[in-house]
Amino acid sequence: MHRIRKIYCRTFQTAFKIALPFLPYRTPEIIGSVKGIPDILKEKKCSSVLIITDSVIRELGLTKRLEKALSDHDIPFFIYDKTVANPTTVNVAAALDLYHEHSCNAIIGFGGGSSMDCAKAVGARVAKPKQSLARMKGILKVHKKLPLLIAIPTTAGTGSETTLAAVITDADTRHKYAINDFPLIPRYAVLDPKVTISLPPSITATTGMDALTHAVEAFIGNSTTYGTRKNALMAVQLIFENIDTVYNDGKNVSARRNMLHASFYAGCAFTKSYVGYVHAVAHSLGGEYNVPHGLANAVILPFVLEAYGESIHKKLHKLAVAAGISKADTPVSESAAAFIQAIKDMKQRFHIGDHIPEIQDVDIPKLAHYADKEANPLYPVPVLMDKRKLEQFYYQLMDDTQIDDAQTDDSGKPQEQL
Ligand SMILES: [Zn+2]
Repeated sequence: MHRIRKIYCRTFQTAFKIALPFLPYRTPEIIGSVKGIPDILKEKKCSSVLIITDSVIRELGLTKRLEKALSDHDIPFFIYDKTVANPTTVNVAAALDLYHEHSCNAIIGFGGGSSMDCAKAVGARVAKPKQSLARMKGILKVHKKLPLLIAIPTTAGTGSETTLAAVITDADTRHKYAINDFPLIPRYAVLDPKVTISLPPSITATTGMDALTHAVEAFIGNSTTYGTRKNALMAVQLIFENIDTVYNDGKNVSARRNMLHASFYAGCAFTKSYVGYVHAVAHSLGGEYNVPHGLANAVILPFVLEAYGESIHKKLHKLAVAAGISKADTPVSESAAAFIQAIKDMKQRFHIGDHIPEIQDVDIPKLAHYADKEANPLYPVPVLMDKRKLEQFYYQLMDDTQIDDAQTDDSGKPQEQL
């Protein structure tokens, strides 16, 4: 990266770091079961509640225990279950209509990141009825208290239950944008392992590795605080202790609970200390080819850690100790290498490869441009990389056959190098 741009990025990040202690972050209160929700609603004098979820979760019957708990306490509830994978403005408008139609005064986001994002956006529209979502795009545009917002994550990965962001796609233009403001942070996070029990092993693994990526990227960045470092270390420890158990024995309630807590702590870490180039590259692949977010992160994570080199060895050593891979007196470089190797081994156990087959080499400059735009100057990464440097990751993620295809003509002969 050019020297002037480096100075610009680091100055920008330092300004954010200085502002960090003065920003109104808050941590959602943890509730251990959906059965605890009626008491909260009564305490907050909420008489009618809107549950926002998706059709798969509804069909799997995951909302049943919550529905029963609410019925048992005579709390009227209404369910919007049409949330799609990238929630749209149409989803938000339809859920908002339901909210007003039944005079609701609380919102429960029940699902993965999408349902929680949709719930946050509905809350924002309730708080600011005259302002469109598009006009809340960016940072600090909501600025008003939302109705009571409760998040129930059904995967242990996104950490959305802790964050101030809602990502929404415009149904007409397909433009995807984020609304970021402190009132969007849910008041309560319900970490109920029973709603994650039916998650298949592959999604358990990739969402768990998404949480691992949140913790690692937050920890190795330059804008950490004592609290975010502590949260990231706790998350890494819990993930290494439990991820194989939940992968092999999905019904293990206590391991499922530990993974939900890990995801929550990792969310608390990255919401203040940000992520890094793993996420920037993963988001570009999600946008272009719909590569699932957790899978992309899991594939990319070791490559980016290796590219950061020696500058992060001390930090990786601390993560390795938390993960139970190294001892405090293990030489730092040995410990750092062991941590990266442990992630590679984890990928192998979960049958996650090293390549993203969808990548087309003609797309790489554009993808690297998106990643560069997302990460620089916002993410306080340990080593700054420009678009050209980021391109190397995409080439690394193409497998040999993709590269052969790109370099040979139909007859299989290598094309002339221009
Ligand atoms: Zn993520």
